[in-house]
Amino acid sequence: MHRAAAWRHAEETIRAVLERFAFEEIRTPVVEPLALIARGMGGSTDIVTKEMFSFERGKTHYVLRPELTAPVMRAYLQHHMGQRPGEQRFFYFGPCFRAERPQKGRYRQFHQYGAEIIGTNDARADAEIIACTVEIYRALGLKNTKLRINTLGDAASRARYSAVLREYFAPMKDKLSAASQKRLQSNPLRILDTKLDYERDLVRNAPQLMTHVDEESLNHYEAVKAYLKRVGIDFAEDPFLVRGLDYYSRTAFEVESFDIGAQSALAGGGRYDRLAEAIGSKQAVPAVGFAAGMERLLLAMEAQDVSWPAAAPLDAFLIGLGEAAKAEVFALAFQLRRDGLHVVHGLHNRSMKAQMRTAHRLRARYCIIIGDNELASRQAQVKDMDQGTQESVPFDALPRILFSHRS
Ligand code: AMP
Repeated sequence: MHRAAAWRHAEETIRAVLERFAFEEIRTPVVEPLALIARGMGGSTDIVTKEMFSFERGKTHYVLRPELTAPVMRAYLQHHMGQRPGEQRFFYFGPCFRAERPQKGRYRQFHQYGAEIIGTNDARADAEIIACTVEIYRALGLKNTKLRINTLGDAASRARYSAVLREYFAPMKDKLSAASQKRLQSNPLRILDTKLDYERDLVRNAPQLMTHVDEESLNHYEAVKAYLKRVGIDFAEDPFLVRGLDYYSRTAFEVESFDIGAQSALAGGGRYDRLAEAIGSKQAVPAVGFAAGMERLLLAMEAQDVSWPAAAPLDAFLIGLGEAAKAEVFALAFQLRRDGLHVVHGLHNRSMKAQMRTAHRLRARYCIIIGDNELASRQAQVKDMDQGTQESVPFDALPRILFSHRS
């Protein structure tokens, strides 16, 4: 469980940064056709259904979305957003679902926020996505994170490298986990992603992707790094960093936190120039983006005691003594709230002393007391809870008094 106040503070900060980068919010459905997600992930529908929550209605198979990159690209294509001027910049925020074994930092339902720049292959777009990912952590005051980057090259370099990896891992097949043995055929690059220590040792000596990357991608990578340096963003190059999905090319990156245990990835992203075609576009649509986990961010914030603003303080606690006064207090509280004040009145029939205690506990700035006499004179007793003083205030002057302490 995370404190809603921390969540809200994080979400507001994230939105503020994303909007400064001129990303426009996009909201897409939680339920998507399995075919879209499966094609988007380049996996067989079998794998996809095992890793996701899926169900059938009529002849169609649906999934609860595991991520938002493919849904955003689907929306972009379906609504012809490429016809709008310039490249398109979107951000999203929402729940995702994966049928995983839950553990700290890994849940079946979690929340992602992220951004995509669609319609350009300019290296500045890659650098801007990376810079924005990191800028959000800076804005929140989060420390102890590390940004790693790499380039995957184009489709041909990826294919060449896959063949080289297959050859390298083949003699040690028996030492690999069952999952990696499967990947050896389907997608050997994913073996490099392993979190198992004994596999990491094997990976360490594997041939590096960089030596198989095409020249244009290398130039692109150099440009991305230069832009990052230009705005003072620290990064480490990691030749074994890959993105699991087939449609990624060129830039890949990940941000990790050292404070949240084994599930340490806070955010990841990269260039996915082939996704649009994979989900049915006739034309290639270059794009780059990032996706970040909200729950892991909150874990990291809590581990580092990152602070967030307290909830809005209570302007007043209202106490009505007697039936007629209670009805008046009910109406007065409603009007004060409409005026923009944050007030509460006791809904129990408790003694005045008990209600005053509640007012103290809620840290109300003022206590407003109305009994028969106050009702008759339309003047409330207003107790300043900080000063301990009390005065008589006409009902219609209450908003002015309550607002005055705020300035
Ligand atoms: P991915 O789409 O797998 O690259 O995920 C992007 C980010 O989402 C990760 O870096 C995590 O912060 C977060 N994330 C992914 N899967 C989960 C999960 N099952 N539970 C919580 N957070 C997740």
